[in-house]
Amino acid sequence: MRTLVINAGSSSVKFSVFDTASNVQIFKSELQRLESVEKAVEGIPALLEAAGITTLDAIGHRVAHGGSQLMDACVISDDVVAAVEDCISLAPLHNPPALAGISVARKNWPDVPQVAVFDTAFHQTIPERASTYAVPESWRNLGLRRYGFHGTSHKYVMLRVAEELGTPAAELRIISCHLGNGASVCAIERGVSVDTSMGMTALEGLVMGSRSGDVDPGMFAFLSRTLGLSPEEVELELYKNSGLAALSGAGNDMRDIEQRAGEGDKKAQLAISVYAYRARKYIAAYAGVMGGVDVIAFTGGIGENSVSMRKRICERFDYLGLIFDEDLNSAVKLTDSEAPQIQQKNSRVKVIVTQTREQWMIAQETSRVVRAAAMPPRHYPPIPVAVSAHHVHLTKETVEALFGKGYELKIHKSLTQKGQWAAEETVDVIGPRGEIKSVRILGPYRSANQIEVAETEAFHLGVDAPLRQSGQTQNTPVITLRGPAGTLQTDGIIVASRHIHTNPTDAAKFGFKDGDMVEVEVRNGARDLVFRDVLIRVNPEYTTEMHIDTDEANAAHIKHGGLGALIPVSTHVAQITSCPHGSNTDGSCKLAPVASAA
Ligand code: ADP
Repeated sequence: MRTLVINAGSSSVKFSVFDTASNVQIFKSELQRLESVEKAVEGIPALLEAAGITTLDAIGHRVAHGGSQLMDACVISDDVVAAVEDCISLAPLHNPPALAGISVARKNWPDVPQVAVFDTAFHQTIPERASTYAVPESWRNLGLRRYGFHGTSHKYVMLRVAEELGTPAAELRIISCHLGNGASVCAIERGVSVDTSMGMTALEGLVMGSRSGDVDPGMFAFLSRTLGLSPEEVELELYKNSGLAALSGAGNDMRDIEQRAGEGDKKAQLAISVYAYRARKYIAAYAGVMGGVDVIAFTGGIGENSVSMRKRICERFDYLGLIFDEDLNSAVKLTDSEAPQIQQKNSRVKVIVTQTREQWMIAQETSRVVRAAAMPPRHYPPIPVAVSAHHVHLTKETVEALFGKGYELKIHKSLTQKGQWAAEETVDVIGPRGEIKSVRILGPYRSANQIEVAETEAFHLGVDAPLRQSGQTQNTPVITLRGPAGTLQTDGIIVASRHIHTNPTDAAKFGFKDGDMVEVEVRNGARDLVFRDVLIRVNPEYTTEMHIDTDEANAAHIKHGGLGALIPVSTHVAQITSCPHGSNTDGSCKLAPVASAA
């Protein structure tokens, strides 16, 4: 699929053409310091023609902010354009040029499918506790929450790191540091973003080229009282005249700043140390969030090129298990997609440097969405839904500790999945706040204890049980199990991710494979619900059945033995909900777009 990628920013338009089937970049160009985005995009067909590119199969647009409505890359329609316009107030510098690019491209190539790929999409997995600002509910109802950006870059870095290490992303805790003119850090736990330093807008977090990153919000009132500045004037200064540029007093180019700092310039030295300190602080915080870190990855102009900044940021992380190698760090020279490691051999944490490839990633997302949209609608057989109440899987040693030496569990009844059974025995699960009595043990024995509860029950117990796939019990909280012969403390408590067990025959019927994520709709009249992020697990021994926990079942008003229906991907890409911010009487979005600060 020949895919044009347009990345329209306020000061440049980058565009590339990829053949996504052979994975080759056919063309690449960048137009700087523009008269207007529209003019630049209008000039693209002539430039492509001169390069011998006369036909396109798809066009992908980078769009900074998709807000709460646009959760994944999608085919562009008038509704999508309107939803991106709704988000202008959340990304005043970035969404307007993207919209201008989309508008011209739709006129120029009316017959070519066009896709919007959002910087926010990768961060849709961030849990509420990390995306929520502690502000009045009425503000939060307007869509005021943390969204995160640079998602395309962080996703690419995750894939590249996993490929380089030969370890699935689902087994890694990665801290991805995108340090360019814009900069953000992302905590990626087992394949999904769990926190990132940018928030509702691209201002929060790290010190950037000309953006401040974190500030005290009390600053707005202070500056209003002392300098008489309006909120818009403060906002513009924080976007345009802050960050490295403000601290160094001599521009935002890290190469110049490092040069000046070396020559004794105190402002440049301060700029470097504030920049590195903020990045270190976020990395340490995210290691805390994930209960440790396996890989720290650097990308973006500064991350890829500044030997001294990487060293400053990685210093004194030995307590995390990171032993930095100065020689390997100095030797990094990236020319293509290399991903060198710069830690010593005995370092538990790996440090990887790699070029980001946002354009390539956008081309991949674009062809995925266009292919899915072109799929004929399919009618899938219904999927039985089973409700998993709390239960435990135990090791033989744990059973003996709780029931006595040599004790063997007795089978109470067989379960739908072949070889699995509910035992007659139960245990009590005890947390720091509360306990759950008589929790059923499921057999056969496992190699590690796994305690599965619903999120409400985790609150009752007083533990922060992470959302995990079965078997992923590393770094989980410790709780106490009580049996008739004793108690035992163990980790392994999780809230299980919803999933579908299926076998190769049924998987072929549905058209999915092991590891796919699908959406399932449950209709029961009263509380219809679509479950997103349902993991497919294929095994010849499995009977096809979707497993959800009691919280999820209650939300959907579903009883054990209910039915779900797989949602065809092509429907999903066209889905848009109404404006989440609420509407004014004229129907316009309540978060009225502010004038572009560009
Ligand atoms: P953008 O976010 O605009 O894509 P880039 O990823 O190109 O930005 O990063 C730009 C930043 O990278 C600039 O601050 C630039 O000074 C810095 N940079 C590029 N090369 C080097 C280098 N060799 N040493 C230090 N900083 C560098």
